[in-house]
Amino acid sequence: MTQKLTLESSPIELVKYKGSDFLIKRDDLLDELFSGNKARKLSYFLEHDFPYTKKLVSYGSVQSNSLCSMAALAKLKQWQLEFYVHNIPKWLQDNPTGNYAQATKLGAKVLPWESEEQNNTFSSINNFIQDKENGSPDDTLFIPEGAHCEQAKCGIEKLAKEIENYCQGEGIGEMLIMLPSGTGTTSLFLNSFLRHSKIKFSVITCACVGDDEYLEKQFSELSSEPKNWPTILPTKKKYHFGKLYREHYELWLNLKQQTNIEFDLLYDPIGWRCLLDYLQKNPHKNVLYIHQGGLIGNQSMLARYEHKKG
Ligand SMILES: *Cc1c(COP(=O)(O)O)cnc(C)c1O
Repeated sequence: MTQKLTLESSPIELVKYKGSDFLIKRDDLLDELFSGNKARKLSYFLEHDFPYTKKLVSYGSVQSNSLCSMAALAKLKQWQLEFYVHNIPKWLQDNPTGNYAQATKLGAKVLPWESEEQNNTFSSINNFIQDKENGSPDDTLFIPEGAHCEQAKCGIEKLAKEIENYCQGEGIGEMLIMLPSGTGTTSLFLNSFLRHSKIKFSVITCACVGDDEYLEKQFSELSSEPKNWPTILPTKKKYHFGKLYREHYELWLNLKQQTNIEFDLLYDPIGWRCLLDYLQKNPHKNVLYIHQGGLIGNQSMLARYEHKKG
């Protein structure tokens, strides 16, 4: 794990998949535990001083990449992480693996979501996050689920600059960029920076959690200016987030065999499926896919796939 309180840049690699060239932005290599786009979104909290903070509070899924990355962040900052979850499946409790296992190893407290009251507390804390940054002497820092917040902009700006610098260096004038969305935080901020570039970038995404309408709502919470919103590609089939699909596993395995890169099993199979369908009708010369990490989460996904097969 990184010991410095800054995030390095990540490489861009050229791979061939199904006979076509793809550039891959390897944000999965940023750090093993402080992973991928969560590291980008949380880097603001890593790099700024919070002199009064002792405790970090957030919530989400017990298998989420956010949990492990927030635990890594808390460890680096010497904060206690309290992470609220609705449910810990029995099989995971009995055999801790993936993000949950890593986070507890890093000292995170994973706690049950108790009541509606908790919900209310969280939304009110959310409104006060700004005050805390201004140095109000409160020892608790709250980060919304999936770091869907203004502060995430900081790390995504750095990502945008790395991509822009790469294109300048390579003399690339036009580029299609694909990244699958959960909360849409990464794709929205990326597009809002890159649309002002001299290089002609097209940022495309797809909704992996909820439908397109949900994703647009997420975008609108971060920017009321629709010009900042990336283009949402249609998903041909409705997938339930976190559910196992044979076609997802097969695409994931095929990608791994042909590119030698392990992608994530939750978002990337949907992202690649949408991208490949889109490119059939809209071929592009320069295509960059952003690998947003999530490999620790694959441990529990693979355990579930194994269990299903057996
Ligand atoms: C969290 C995550 C996403 C979704 O990121 P958002 O900013 O919430 O859209 C995509 N891919 C991976 C691997 C992730 O961990």
